[in-house]
Amino acid sequence: MKNMHDQPLYDVIIVGAGPIGLACGIEAKKAGLRYLIIEKGCLVNSLYHYPLNMTFFSTSERLEIGGVPFISHGPKPNRSESLEYYRRVCSTWELNVHLYEKVLSIQPENENHVVTTARGKYEARAVILSLGFYDLPYLLNVPGEDLPKVRHYYDEPHPYFNQNIVVVGAANSAVDVALETYRKGAKVTMVIREQSILDSVKYWVRPDIENRIKEGSINAYFNSHVVEIKPSSVVIKTPERTFEQENDFVLAMTGYQPPFQFMRECGIQFHDDPYHTPVYNEETMETNVKNLYLAGVVCGGLKTNKWFIENSRVHAEMVIADLQKKLSNTA
Ligand SMILES: Cc1cc2nc3c(=O)[nH]c(=O)nc-3n(C[C@H](O)[C@H](O)[C@H](O)COP(=O)(O)OP(=O)(O)OC[C@H]3O[C@@H](n4cnc5c(N)ncnc54)[C@H](O)[C@@H]3O)c2cc1C
Repeated sequence: MKNMHDQPLYDVIIVGAGPIGLACGIEAKKAGLRYLIIEKGCLVNSLYHYPLNMTFFSTSERLEIGGVPFISHGPKPNRSESLEYYRRVCSTWELNVHLYEKVLSIQPENENHVVTTARGKYEARAVILSLGFYDLPYLLNVPGEDLPKVRHYYDEPHPYFNQNIVVVGAANSAVDVALETYRKGAKVTMVIREQSILDSVKYWVRPDIENRIKEGSINAYFNSHVVEIKPSSVVIKTPERTFEQENDFVLAMTGYQPPFQFMRECGIQFHDDPYHTPVYNEETMETNVKNLYLAGVVCGGLKTNKWFIENSRVHAEMVIADLQKKLSNTA
């Protein structure tokens, strides 16, 4: 079927080729729908940007999609095993994916949606946004944050050997970074705005970081903030004093947030709650915009630990079931 611009009319366009976008593509294919997945980076772009040595907290079978078995060497897979796995899923299902094509806008036109990307325009009856939350880091908003020594993403410990580093944050990423860089020879100071390491830190990691802090191997300032970053130092404000400390790198592990601006421009509304939760029907995953759906971790708004791969894989079936029902009613 062609649309008014003589382009193919898709039943559904899926924005984002993360694990949940791929799961949506698989369900769409199973249902015989004309679908396209559009991804701005590489396949499973967020996972690709995770720390090189990370291990998932989930066991591999809980990350499976499309019935493709995920066998890992240990009980929990690592990043490279996950990349291998999702590449295999994509080829097994011969998914229709455009990579390195950013979606710039989604606008309703007649009964359909027009999806404009960096490369062209597409028309679809429905759109699923499986955008994740890994593109926009929370900024410290302090002078010097734009210096090249400040990083909001962490890849591996080697560059920090023998360097004075400050790790900002007290959640899982900050703790993992502090421990890994300390063990590879960095001199680590943690600057933590809360009064302790967060409760959400993995229970098997928590004693390790607390003991390293207690014994003084990792220096930690609680109820404290970085207030300025200079080329070879940082200024830290603790409840007792403000002081300057020698510094080579700042790793701001302060979390990430979903692309709210983009979602707002698509017409999506948000609840007036602390998490800025997007409005969607929890049974169908359809937003307040007709035939515009959400799937995956993006559904949690700022509560980015509410949904993950394990518990949001099911969104794919929910969306496609609703869409199929609608399409069969209009056939
Ligand atoms: C360090 C770490 C460890 C984790 N461990 C686990 C675990 O053990 N188990 C678990 O279940 N979950 C885990 N998670 C969470 C899990 O990785 C995420 O929940 C998962 O990536 C969500 O999948 P998604 O498809 O919803 O989003 P994502 O994987 O983030 O995919 C979203 C995709 O959308 C693309 N995109 C965004 N905007 C656009 C646009 N405008 N145009 C085109 N493409 C766009 C992005 O590039 C990205 O590829 C972990 C997360 C982190 C950070």
